[in-house]
Order: sequence, then C-alpha cells, then structure tokens
Amino acid sequence: MNDDELLRYSRHILLDEIGIEGQQRIRDAAALVVGAGGLGSPAALYLASAGIGRLTLVDGDDVDLTNLQRQILHSSERIGVNKAASGKVALAALNPQVELLPIGERVGDDELLRLVADADVVLDCSDNFATRHAINRACVAARRPLVSGAAVRFEGQLTVFDLRRPQSSCYACLFPEGDAQDELCAMMGVFAPVTGIIGTMQAAEALKLIAAAGSALEDRLLLLDALAMEIRSVRYGADPHCLVCRRARATAQPLHG
Ligand SMILES: [Zn+2]
Repeated sequence: MNDDELLRYSRHILLDEIGIEGQQRIRDAAALVVGAGGLGSPAALYLASAGIGRLTLVDGDDVDLTNLQRQILHSSERIGVNKAASGKVALAALNPQVELLPIGERVGDDELLRLVADADVVLDCSDNFATRHAINRACVAARRPLVSGAAVRFEGQLTVFDLRRPQSSCYACLFPEGDAQDELCAMMGVFAPVTGIIGTMQAAEALKLIAAAGSALEDRLLLLDALAMEIRSVRYGADPHCLVCRRARATAQPLHG
C-alpha cells in the first residue's frame, strides 16, 4: 500500500482485527454485488469506501424516481440511466482506487456462475426468489461465501452461507425453492432506512469474511423489526435433504480456483 492508501484506510489499520494484513486482503479481494437497489447501494458504497480491490455490480434495471427514496447509489440527475452504470459513477467518485465492473443486464445461469467463481465473496442484494435461488446455486457450485439480505415493509433479514466449508448450509436449506411468494417493495412498500441497515450489515459480513475478522453470521437468521427496533436471530442448520447443496456435493467434482 502506498502512503495515500495507508491514510485512506488508517482507521481500519488501527483495528487489531483488521490491521495492515486484513486491509491488504480487502484490497486483494473481489466482491460480486447482485442488485444495485436498496440493499446493493449501501453494500457497494461501504465495500468501495473500505477499499475492496474489485467490485462487480450487476443490475439490468434503470434508475426510476420511485427508487431514490432508498437507493442511495443513485441521484435525481441519473433517472433513466442503468443502475449498474449509475452505481459506477457514485462508487468511482467515492474511491477511484477500486476496480469497478458494472454489468447492466440480467445475467443467465452460465454467466452468473462465471461471475461468482471470479469473486471472493458474493452479496445477494436482489429482490426476488428466482434470482436468490440462481445466486445460491452458483455459490454452491463455485463454493463461494454468500451474504444474503432482504428487506420489505419495516422488516429485514440477514444471514451468511460460507459455502467454502463442506458442511455449510445454503439458501435453499433455509428457504426451499417454491416455498415462498415474492414480497416486492413495489407492492408492499419498504421503510427506507431498513434497506440501509441490512445492506450495510451485508457489507460488514463480506468485509469480515475477506479480512478473516471475527465470526460470520452463519447458521443464524438475523431478523430486524424496525417498528419496535428489535433485532433477534433464529438458528437453523443444513437440510440433509436439500436438493441444491446436498445433491451438488454428492455428485459434483471439485471446482478449481
Ligand atoms: Zn442447501
């Protein structure tokens, strides 16, 4: 790290749990953020400000006036601009040292697997179950840690699947495919700061995983009730009959890289 970087990240370097070594790991790491909306905005901003080496931001939608209440990567003047491209503008202004790869289209399963395999940590900041399960399948196949967040109304959820570990549970262990209906913000509404709180926590878990600081929020689903401002967590474990992770592990060859 040069003098500028030592200054920029000095408040991280002062932390025993991060230090120069942890900051170097963050600088050498690549993160994939799927969704540049309410969760992806704060998550990407904190990853960039904290000096992540490479940040790939995927979103096929354009910035809409209804997004600006909570999607703090974007601005009034960028209404109509693709969200990944708009996010790149904000992130580059915040920290020009981060390599930014905006992908302004919906990605298919093969492309998603390639993006996941290229990343050291994956943040699911999407807003629908089809995408969540596609991201999970790719993370199981490529054995990449997945930080999963969700927010709707005054409620938020957060958990981590460290799929580098063979015994890790996966998103489908917790929420089997086809079990739940989407509760989209467009229909249900969402309290703006809830997306900020959960997205920021996703960045925290991702940075901890990269820097090997503390312990990850694994096998616990954190539940935020912002109306009462209460946070609790419930334990869960790997489902031995999970169609995604157990079957994949029984049949798959190990991936390299
Ligand atoms: Zn599973």
